[in-house]
Parts: sequence; C-alpha cells; structure tokens
Amino acid sequence: MPMPRFFAAACFCAALLAPSAAGVEGKWTPQQVLELDPAWLRQLGLQLPPERLWDPRRGAGLLSAAVNIGGCSAGFVSETGLILTNHHCLFSVLQEHSTPQRDLMTHGFLARSPEEELPGRTTRVTVPRRFTDVTKAVLEAVPAGATDLQRYEAIERRQKELVAECERQPGTRCRVAVFDGGVQYVLIESFELSDVRLVYAPPRAIGEFGGEIDNWMWPRHTGDFALARAYKDGKPYRPEFWLPISRDGVRPGDFVMVLGYPGRTVRSLTAAEMALQRDGFFALRARIYGEWIQLLEQATKGSRDGEIAVASTLKSLHNVVKNAQGQMAGLARGRILEKQAEQEKEVEAWAAQRPEWRPAIEARRELDRRAGERRRTMLRDFLFQSIPNGPIALRHATQLVRLAAERARPDMEREPDYMERELPRLRARLERDQKSFYRPADEALMRSWLRHALALPEGARIRAVDAAFRNAPLEQAVAQLYAGTKVTALEERMKMFGETVEQLRARRDPLLDFAFALEEELRAFDRAQKEHEGAASRLRPAWRRAVMAHAGRPMAPDANGTLRVSFAHVKGYSPREAVEYLPQTTLAGMLEKHTGEEPFALPKSLLEAAARVDPAQVPLNFLADADTTGGNSGSPTVNGRGELVGLNFDRVWENVANDFGYNPAIARNVNVDIRFFLWLLEHVDHADGLLKELGIRR
Ligand code: GLU
Repeated sequence: MPMPRFFAAACFCAALLAPSAAGVEGKWTPQQVLELDPAWLRQLGLQLPPERLWDPRRGAGLLSAAVNIGGCSAGFVSETGLILTNHHCLFSVLQEHSTPQRDLMTHGFLARSPEEELPGRTTRVTVPRRFTDVTKAVLEAVPAGATDLQRYEAIERRQKELVAECERQPGTRCRVAVFDGGVQYVLIESFELSDVRLVYAPPRAIGEFGGEIDNWMWPRHTGDFALARAYKDGKPYRPEFWLPISRDGVRPGDFVMVLGYPGRTVRSLTAAEMALQRDGFFALRARIYGEWIQLLEQATKGSRDGEIAVASTLKSLHNVVKNAQGQMAGLARGRILEKQAEQEKEVEAWAAQRPEWRPAIEARRELDRRAGERRRTMLRDFLFQSIPNGPIALRHATQLVRLAAERARPDMEREPDYMERELPRLRARLERDQKSFYRPADEALMRSWLRHALALPEGARIRAVDAAFRNAPLEQAVAQLYAGTKVTALEERMKMFGETVEQLRARRDPLLDFAFALEEELRAFDRAQKEHEGAASRLRPAWRRAVMAHAGRPMAPDANGTLRVSFAHVKGYSPREAVEYLPQTTLAGMLEKHTGEEPFALPKSLLEAAARVDPAQVPLNFLADADTTGGNSGSPTVNGRGELVGLNFDRVWENVANDFGYNPAIARNVNVDIRFFLWLLEHVDHADGLLKELGIRR
C-alpha cells in the first residue's frame, strides 16, 4: 500500500488512517492544530484554513467562541453574549432559584426580557486569549539537588509568579497548565466574565429525558441544552467570535469538530497507576458515593424543601457513580490495563537498546513502586479527597480553618486555593451553598463519612476522628455537633469567613474544633500529595518522552481542563455482537419512550407540538467518534465550516473508559442536534425573541 502523502511528509500528522476508516484519537491543543498537516485536515473534512481556528498572534479565532463555564464547555452563539451549553451544566442555577412554589428545575425557564434573566452566583465564563509555552521558565526554577517536595514547591512558586504577572491586566484570569505530568507547561491567559445569567432551560423532563436510566447510553433522546448570557459592565458582552447556527444539520459520515475543555484523562499513567486509579478512586466513588445517593434520597423523602436543596448534589453524585461503574466495566471489557502493560513492555524493550532512553525504564519502575505504596492509604486518602463532595458542614469548617491560617501568610506563600485571587469565589461559594444545605441530609452524610473513617485499617487511621468519635454513639454525637455549630448558619459563617485562627478558636464551636483537630492530618496528607506530585513531575516526562519517541508520531496530551479540538465523523457503532447502532435519533424515538412515568414523562406542551409534525423529521441526538471526556459537556459540535450543528453532552456506555485508553471501534460521543433545540424554541416555547437573536428569524 502506498504511504499516504501526509504520512510521508515530515509533518506533524496525526493519524495513520484514512479519514472515514476509523476515529481519530486526540484532544488537540490549539497550538497542535496549527502544526498538523493542513492537507490531512482537509481530507478529514475541515473546510476552513486551520489559522481560522486559532491565530496565536492575535490570540483569537473560531476557538475563542468555545468557552469554559464552571468546569463545563459552552459556545457563544450570538453577538449579544448568548452562550449555549448543556442543561446539566446550568442545572445548579435552576436549583439556586427554585422554591416549592416556583420550581424551575421541573418546569424549566424562559426569560422573556433581559430583566427576567437569572444570575448564577458562582457561574463564571472564561474566554481563551493566549497560550505561551513556559516549560523552560518553570523547570529553571527547580534548584539543583532539590528533594521531590522542594521540586514541587519551586514549580508551584514559579507558576504563581507567572500567573500574578499575567493577571496584572484587568479582567484577566491565568493559569499554568501542566501537560502529561510535566512534559510541557503552558501559561494560559483568558478573559473572565463573572456576570452570567440564565436565559432559557427546558423542563427537566426534556433536558434530562431518560434520567439516570438513559445517562451514558445510546439510543438517546435528551434535550440537554440551556442558554445563558454573559454580561460585562452591566451590558450584554459582545464576543468577537461566535458560532453561527447551521440549519443544514448532519448526515452519517459528515465531518464534525468538538471544541471544548475536557477535564481529566489518565492515558499517560502506567498500568500500575491505572490500577490504583481504578481501585483507589473509581471503585471507592462507586461504593461510597453510591451510599450517599441512598442517604440523600432517604433523608429528603417527603420534604420538597429537602429535595430541592439536595437536587443538584444528588444529580452530580448519580452522574459520577454511573461514570465510575462504566469506567470499571470498560477497563475490564477492553482489557485496557493489560494492553497498557503490553505496550510498556514493548517500549522498555525498545529503550533498553538505546542508551539515551534507558533512564526511562527506571522512571517507569519508580512510578509503579510509588503506586504500590500509595495503595496502603488509598481509603483514607479517598475520604480526605471526598470532603468537597461530602457533608457541606465539614467542607465549610475545614475551609474556614484553612483560610484563617493561610490568610495570615503573605499572598504568594499561601496554598493556591486560598490566595487573594480565589477569595471572592470561595466567599460566593460559602454563601451559595446555603441553598443546598438540608440538615437531616447533611447529618446523614456526616455519619457515613465518619463511619468509613472509623473503619479504616490500623496504620491509616485518622487520629482526629478516633479522638472525637471512637467511643461515642455516632447518631447522638453527630446530632450534637450540628446542634452546637454555627458553621451551618449563613450569617455566622460569613462572619467566620473574615476571622483569624484565634477568633475561630475562641468561638469554641464543636465543628470548628473538630476541623482544627483534623487540619494537622489534612496538611500532612497535602504534603504527601505534593511530594508525590514532585516525584511524578520528574519521572513521568522521562517515561512519556520515551513512549512518544517509540510511537514516532505526535500524540495529543491527556485532558487537563484546557481548550482542545477533537476531529470526528458522524457515525454509529456496534455495542456487542450482532447489534449495530445508527447514529441519529429523532422526536419519534422520544415519543416512543414516553410512558408518562418519570424519567420518561414528556410535558403536555411538547406532546401537543409533536402531534402537529412528522416526528421522524425532527432530529434529536446524534453520535460521532469524537475523543471526549467529562468537561466536554456543552462543547460546541461544529461542521467543517465552523457552523454549530450540535452540542456534546455525553459518551456511550461502552466508551466511558476511554479516559484510560482510546478504542476507535467504540469511541462515540453523544450530541444533541441543534435542530431539536430550534424546533423546541420555535414550536414548543414560542421564543421568538431568542430565535431572532440567534439569527434564525428576522
Ligand atoms: N455526561 C458527561 C458528564 O456529565 C459529559 C461528558 C463526558 O463525560 O462524556 O460528565
């Protein structure tokens, strides 16, 4: 077979595959997109010159229409600051504004005028502006002979300096992103918009049609979209780039690109580290968060206030638990760890023949040895790491205690999360959380957290928990803790936000006192994490460079929450023997699933509008073979001309474990078809004003 031209050329060419033959692995950075062979991209289906996607000199391009919205992705879709993202990405804003009398989560929301739009108190949008490779500057900061902890601290300090310098420009938000554990460091400069208001969300019965039964599944019929608007200085923000909506739709085989902010993948871990990620993270998530779901449901039964309070937490726990189960099932089914181990052997054999690559072998072994060591404390470590997702009162108490201590230090010496630049966010969060607090539910989570801590094996116990709870009947002890603390009272908590360590101690608040006792062990845990990160930043690049040199082709780095592009085609797949899935669903399939019982209970307004059309002509969801992960929720899916054809919102069950390894046969992401969104706005919600703003109506 003759070699394709793009492979023969000495270019940065991504795939060795004919465009339509199989999926293209890779969440490419904007810089990498410019280094890929333009002829290959054309062959895939890109009709724009790659420089239209990103122009590094101007710090802009079509990619700057793809923005980050609180851990999700989104796209500007009008010159008046409208942002389209997933329903599940803005669900917490609906929850924030819902009451039993005005239940926006259930009924959805449409602002008929700008005054009606609903601010999300903690919702922020960042628009990318500049990416600068700072690897040299970061690594130069590490002193010769540094221990791993010193190495970590030196890198962190340099990162803080670079960020501080970058954020001197007003309205700018910067970060130094680490690629593949230290192969590259990139300073990312973004423009931040902190006034973001909800404009439109369909009823939950549409935005989340199929609920947890259909989540991570195909065939799918979910209207997972919502609209927000960004404001600047009180006026709608006017983005330089926004995505025009295509009315043409997609057909099987069409080229599409997914633009967004994939959160975290772990393909660059070694097989032993992957096994630890499975056992010490996903397995525990499935077990402990699965238990928390049941506790939250039981504790709020019969109380609409309680249900509204925990709705957002519960939804995200459900999502991560099913994800964790999918990761584990996919790892086993795809023999991903075994394949990774086989590949490691190959690379090692290759490196052993080449003196310059031999140190890579030792680096990988040390990573493995460290993974073995970390196994011993994995349950305790998970409990520490779960505090942000667990009992709200415990999260707040530990944050307040940490904040008071950190505030006493110069800004540059603080933990990054407690630097001045973070405090407005922390404050907003401490305030906003009140809406999600429901004492019986929180007490139940607290009891569970403590019960797990009390069951830890010798050698990995939490002394503060033992001291306070080992000999006490848990039910009573937790009830007393909540009865005695003021951390859960909004006004008092906001006072605590400004207090010193001495002031907090003088309060003699039982929960704060417990957090003070816990703090020493949390600090020790953080130190151990840093030491490990420091070691990994030394070892992983050494190993990964060998893997890349052995592969002899460019590889996109693991997801790290930074802007990426994935090239794909609309395509079905075979989930198991003798079954073929088609890539497109329509309103007809949604109606077929409608039983009238949640989560398959469509609102009357939709059923009436559906009766007036041929539902098989209303496209709803489609599959593509894009390389995506969590964080890609809400990513604009655009065609080869850069026009919006859909929004990424999920992956299929067989593909959940692609965080560990990509398999073109089953790598499918699920998109909501923009034509369904338009149909809904037009025929169900009669949102004429919005349709005009979106350029659909005159
Ligand atoms: N439904 C997914 C989530 O919420 C979307 C992104 C993905 O993981 O594919 O995490």
